[in-house]
Amino acid sequence: MTEEIFPFAGQVVHLRRKRIKNMYLRVQKPDGHIEISAPLAMKRAQIEAFLLKNTGWVQRKQRAMKERAAQRALTCQYLTGQKLLVWGEACELVVRKAKGREASVCRKGDRLLLTVPDYATAEQRRDLVNGWYRQQLAAVIPKLLPRCETIVGKKAAECRIRNMKTRWGTCNVVKARVWLNLQLAKYKPEALEYVMLHELTHLWVHNHGPAFKVRMDKYCPDWRRIRKELNANADFS
Ligand SMILES: [Zn+2]
Repeated sequence: MTEEIFPFAGQVVHLRRKRIKNMYLRVQKPDGHIEISAPLAMKRAQIEAFLLKNTGWVQRKQRAMKERAAQRALTCQYLTGQKLLVWGEACELVVRKAKGREASVCRKGDRLLLTVPDYATAEQRRDLVNGWYRQQLAAVIPKLLPRCETIVGKKAAECRIRNMKTRWGTCNVVKARVWLNLQLAKYKPEALEYVMLHELTHLWVHNHGPAFKVRMDKYCPDWRRIRKELNANADFS
C-alpha cells in the first residue's frame, strides 16, 4: 500500500493505493479529512472526477461531523441541562449559585445538583462532578472488592480510583495493585464489577489470551455483552 496527499478544492485528500478493484471514499474522524482508497494503477484524473461527483456527500458528512463536535464541546460545559449518567441512569445537571465559596454536589432523584460560586470555571465544575463520581465508587468498592476477590480467588494488595482517559482499569501484577477509572460510576454497576473481575483475573493471567478468556467466562459469563455496552457508551470526560 502507498499513501500520498494532494490538495483538491481547498481540501487535503489522503490517497491510499491498494490492490483493490473499486474506489472507496471516506470522511475521517475527528477532523473530517477526505480519504480515498484506489486501485494501484488508477489515473489521478479518474480519482479527481470521482471526488467531484461525490462533493455533495463529502460536504454533508463534514458538516455533520462539525455539528457533532460543537455539540460535544457544549455538553462539556457542566451547565444546567447537561445530561450526565449515574450508575447507568440519565440525570440532569442543575447548577445553583452558592452563597459563599462553598461547593457541593448531590443527587436528588434524576437531578444532580451542583452548587458553586458563579465564578467557577467549566473545569472546576467538571472536577467537582468527577470528585462526586469518585465518592460514588469509593462507597461501593469496600463491599464489591471482597466479593470479586472471592470469585476470582486472588486478592488485590491495593485498589485505587483514578480518572483515566483511555482505559477502564489497570492492574500492576507485580504489586497486585488495581486501579479503577472513576468514570465507571457513570455506567451500570455490572460494568464496574466486570472491570474489577477483569483486573483481578490479570493476577492469574497477564495477557488477554485464551487462558484469560476461559477464566473470564467462569467469573463473569456475561462479560462480552457488558464490555460491548460499556465501550459503546464510553465517555472519558
Ligand atoms: Zn486487561
